[in-house]
Amino acid sequence: MPIYEYLCAECDTRFEAIRSFSKADDPISCENCQSVETQRAVTTAFAHSGGRIVAGSSSASGCGSCSAGSCATCGV
Ligand SMILES: [Zn+2]
Repeated sequence: MPIYEYLCAECDTRFEAIRSFSKADDPISCENCQSVETQRAVTTAFAHSGGRIVAGSSSASGCGSCSAGSCATCGV
């Protein structure tokens, strides 16, 4: 199942959850504060692809010190 990233509106915590596609937009409680004021964030694996699917996981891209695949350090 795909990994989705969520952003908590209460404490700005980003967290990931493995969910089935059909449950991707279901409410999910924050890992940090248990608030359900969360929204699904665009996963980094697709955020910078410009429509093109980036091969590999987000952990394999970028410079290793970031998970975004795009930062000042790695210059990707
Ligand atoms: Zn929270």
